[in-house]
Amino acid sequence: MKIPYISIILFLLSNTYFAVAETWNDVSRLNQTKVAKIVEAKTESDLLLAIEYARQHKKQISISGTQHSQGGHIATLDGVVLDMRSFNQIMNISAKDKTIQVQSGVTWDHIQKVINPLGLSVKVMQSSNIFSIGGSISANVHGRDPSYGPLVDTILSLKVLLSDGRILQASRTTNSELFRAIIGGYGALGIILEAKIALTDNVLLKKTVHAVKYDEYWQQLKQDLAKGLSLHFGRCSFVQGKHFLDDCFQINYTVADAKRYTNPLHQESHIQRNRTFFHFSRQSNLGKHLRWSLQKSIIDPAGKTSFISRNNAMRPPIQFLAYNSLKDTDILQEYFVPVEAFASYLDDMRTILRHHHVNLLSMTIRYVKADEVTLLPYATKEMLAIVIYVNQSLDKTAIDTARQWTQQLVQSALKHQGTYYLTYQRYPTLSQFYQAYPQWQQWKKMKEKYDPSGLWMNQFYQHYFSVPVKSEK
Ligand SMILES: Cc1cc2nc3c(=O)[nH]c(=O)nc-3n(C[C@H](O)[C@H](O)[C@H](O)COP(=O)(O)OP(=O)(O)OC[C@H]3O[C@@H](n4cnc5c(N)ncnc54)[C@H](O)[C@@H]3O)c2cc1C
Repeated sequence: MKIPYISIILFLLSNTYFAVAETWNDVSRLNQTKVAKIVEAKTESDLLLAIEYARQHKKQISISGTQHSQGGHIATLDGVVLDMRSFNQIMNISAKDKTIQVQSGVTWDHIQKVINPLGLSVKVMQSSNIFSIGGSISANVHGRDPSYGPLVDTILSLKVLLSDGRILQASRTTNSELFRAIIGGYGALGIILEAKIALTDNVLLKKTVHAVKYDEYWQQLKQDLAKGLSLHFGRCSFVQGKHFLDDCFQINYTVADAKRYTNPLHQESHIQRNRTFFHFSRQSNLGKHLRWSLQKSIIDPAGKTSFISRNNAMRPPIQFLAYNSLKDTDILQEYFVPVEAFASYLDDMRTILRHHHVNLLSMTIRYVKADEVTLLPYATKEMLAIVIYVNQSLDKTAIDTARQWTQQLVQSALKHQGTYYLTYQRYPTLSQFYQAYPQWQQWKKMKEKYDPSGLWMNQFYQHYFSVPVKSEK
């Protein structure tokens, strides 16, 4: 794509074009990074100008969505940050073909708002809807619909801006090697400008809840999957004591009525009340007891049946989790193990978390089919994903301890032929990464092919690909 020469000159001369900012961070607040510039990108021209600026000033560029990755993926020291949140146009929707084409700064919430009136729904997204499409594709996220593997399953094509200014289409048949590397490629190959995504019908679902012991989880789920599930997730007790990671609940959704629904979307409510309850559970085992009891007796009691549209089931409350303490923070982690290894992995996890007195705030479970497309797949076969939400202090000792128990959890996942999610902290070792992601060298070749000058940079890439960190100017 060409931009007028005069725009470049004006851009380079302008001191006001970039919002100058000191630092950039993600929601975990563990990756505060001093950066040279933050560019709020609204148009493709903004992006080209930012590339030109970076070249002129010998800077590298990191790409940022809604900042929910937690491992330095969205900034590099003294680099330029592209804030993509305003690059958020809906380009096209086809109710007939059940597809949507969007710019990468669009969030799932935005998509849900425009497709709900058409009776359409997203096939694969995170459990919540606050994330950007670019950030979701770059992490190749997964969600609650057990019919699919990760998000790649539903991406029909991408429009990508490379570091040399070329714009390429990428799909399973066109520039397929770029498609396989950029999905799950954490912003290291180019800017995803647009994505065309496959949708499904927004149908009415019947929600049921049943209690299950952790060591019967997979056998029970296997039977339910055979009958057909539209959505599934699970949770196990995070309360310290004899039921810790032992008492679990399965929450299943099946189709109650297959016609397209257009009833209104729910908005999150009682945010402050829920935040207070959640905070109490951060601080004490009594608070954990109370929250777990509420979850078991009021929110999702075993035996309860209710009805909800698919779209509303795919926008559960999340805003109450926002947390800004100066002393501590909440982090997420996720481990993937082959379905049969679930109970054995949980035995290891229980021991490790107890040993390190980890302040576990929740443990939830998803089912993910294998990803046979991308080069850095976490779902190498049919997997159960174990998601832990943990509160930790921000001091160095606490971070070092978290690094230790994370490495132990990763080691156990590897022992069970499992993997861990690259979207969180950079605690795992290089040898653990090589074992979990054996195609990393092939992926690195793609990075070098599509970004030979190393323009796209972030701390995730520096860590796992041993790139020396540029010293501060
Ligand atoms: C509370 C919480 C709940 C979560 N739940 C789930 C879940 O249910 N399932 C799941 O799979 N994950 C989950 N995650 C992880 C989350 O999906 C990923 O971190 C995802 O990347 C977040 O999207 P984002 O827009 O915040 O991306 P960011 O964190 O802003 O960016 C993530 C990566 O994408 C790259 N990127 C962003 N935009 C572009 C673009 N336009 N072009 C190229 N690269 C780009 C960035 O460089 C970075 O490497 C959760 C995280 C949190 C904190």
